[in-house]
Amino acid sequence: MDFLWLFILYVFFLVLCVSVFCFLSGRSSGRLHGVLHRAEQALSLVLPSWLQRGISSCFHTRSHAFVLLHLVLDTLVFAEYTGEVLHYILELELNWALVYLPYILITLNLYFFYKCCRTDPGRVTKQNESLCLGVYEYDEVMFFRSNKCPTCHLMKPARSKHCGVCGSCIQRFDHHCVWVNNCIGARNIRFFLLYLLSLTLTAASLAAVITVFLLQVVLLSHMMAAAYVDSGGHEEIASLVYVIQHLFLTFPRIVFLLGFLFILILFLGGYTCFLWYLAITNRTTNEWYKARRIPGAPKGYSRGILGNLKEIFQPYTGYKKKR
Ligand SMILES: [Zn+2]
Ligand SMILES: [Zn+2]
Repeated sequence: MDFLWLFILYVFFLVLCVSVFCFLSGRSSGRLHGVLHRAEQALSLVLPSWLQRGISSCFHTRSHAFVLLHLVLDTLVFAEYTGEVLHYILELELNWALVYLPYILITLNLYFFYKCCRTDPGRVTKQNESLCLGVYEYDEVMFFRSNKCPTCHLMKPARSKHCGVCGSCIQRFDHHCVWVNNCIGARNIRFFLLYLLSLTLTAASLAAVITVFLLQVVLLSHMMAAAYVDSGGHEEIASLVYVIQHLFLTFPRIVFLLGFLFILILFLGGYTCFLWYLAITNRTTNEWYKARRIPGAPKGYSRGILGNLKEIFQPYTGYKKKR
């Protein structure tokens, strides 16, 4: 199969995986959601019930499956980088700071990942119920006073939501994240924002080093000035497609890794920007989603960019009512 088609298929497969993941975790909407919903109905007729139960439990009950998958993917990417790319780029004598930057970023990322997984997102309990009720005012549009959670049997603070996966109401609920097997709420949203940022930067630094390495290979080997004899026996000057094909055949795993990183940067970068935008406007994903369905819904609890960031990075400081 022509390498270009193989690569396009690979990219298509990655995009499909991301779309299916968003659908199963309840984050897709619009036409794509309809298509995936019909595909899910068709697959449910074919897939054995134990497999369907297994997939459903990964998304709808607390499970370490995605935490492990996350760590496996990290390990595979860095094993490939260390085992195959590092010794080439050390030979090329690229700037050492650029070469080792991905290791620094992934260390930071793993720390924030751990904090996201282990930090209490802000569970509302009998002990802290009255404290949580005093943090935000009710807007009586999205959040109503005297609203009791039928599962926890506790009063629901403004901006909170009951998470069916974690089994409790979460203060300033953002969403439940299967990758960290935890809710994202008032107390760990800061770690989640830094986790997303560091993961995007890790992928970007890896992609940058690999791109610089491949460019160096092309320049040092004078590949663009080379000629080759085609199947008809004619001598042809190497085109860009030929050079890419040559790189693909010489370093197949590195080129596939680069493709994976570009897709990751595209999706993850977009999602990171979106969550940071919500952070500086003091809205949660839950509120953003609700506001789309309620005409005239208030625009959130903004107190200015610095005030909003302070609220996220210093949660529960002073229990004055905020609007
Ligand atoms: Zn609840
Ligand atoms: Zn949860």
